[in-house]
Amino acid sequence: MSDYQETLYEGYGQRFSIDKMLHEVRTEHQHLVIFENARMGRVMALDGVIQTTEADEFIYHEMLTHVPILAHGLAKRVLIIGGGDGGMLREVTKHRSVEHITMVEIDATVVDMCKQFLPNHSRGAYDDPRLNLVIDDGMRFVATTEEKFDVIISDSTDPIGPGEVLFSENFYEACRRCLNDGGILVTQNGTPFMQLGEVQTTAKRMNGLFSDWHFYQAAVPTYIGGAMTFAWGSTNADYRKLPLETLRQRYAGSGIVTRYYNADIHQAAFALPQYVLEAVHKPSND
Ligand code: SAM
Repeated sequence: MSDYQETLYEGYGQRFSIDKMLHEVRTEHQHLVIFENARMGRVMALDGVIQTTEADEFIYHEMLTHVPILAHGLAKRVLIIGGGDGGMLREVTKHRSVEHITMVEIDATVVDMCKQFLPNHSRGAYDDPRLNLVIDDGMRFVATTEEKFDVIISDSTDPIGPGEVLFSENFYEACRRCLNDGGILVTQNGTPFMQLGEVQTTAKRMNGLFSDWHFYQAAVPTYIGGAMTFAWGSTNADYRKLPLETLRQRYAGSGIVTRYYNADIHQAAFALPQYVLEAVHKPSND
């Protein structure tokens, strides 16, 4: 039995036994592998980095969708950048209040192969009539679209390869332009214990663009190195001050079924460790 060694970090990483290889291809943009692992279920990696596993994807997808959508309270138009495995789309479609979803994914092969080999991720969400699926670079889309959104979710790969541009100042600026008043941008922003510079850089870029910015966290086991941070940017600081009772009512009222998210987790996720707080409030030297 061969192994899959993640190559994200020098000298430190995780290993999966490849119990069954399901698909491997070099797409137009990246190297894609999907395999079966007895413990974590089906696993997808891009360019040597674990993207998602059936076992723990619910944590990441629930936290990047229900936190901004329930904090906003009236989100009708949602934009997903990346997210080719379909898990983010699945969670957004749970919200009956959402009327329109645009998803901009650069790699059509990721969408096609995940539909085929990771069906439990999208679970039919690609057939949702509210979806407008765009195969394009998310940077180009947000820089040129005339559309406006209430919530933008950047579900990108790490800032290497095609994903790098989705951590740029231009990207955050363009997302800000595409947000309706009171809109919220959330992004996958790496694990601060291993990628503290990434969080610092994002903080510096958000600081110049959003009157209210912060981070929130969740521990996703296969995003190794401790809790993962999600960047938060909005012009409405009230969203992060919502009383717990309001969050509980919205969660109950939404009728969504979750396995990780709940109102108490939502509120607690914005509490950050001291080393992360100090880092994000100290200008990075980039
Ligand atoms: N959960 C994963 C993580 O946190 O690393 C991300 C999962 S999802 C598979 C990442 C997606 O971003 C991939 O499908 C990849 O093709 C897409 N992507 C990378 N760069 C992109 C870009 N510039 N525009 C749109 N999609 C992009």
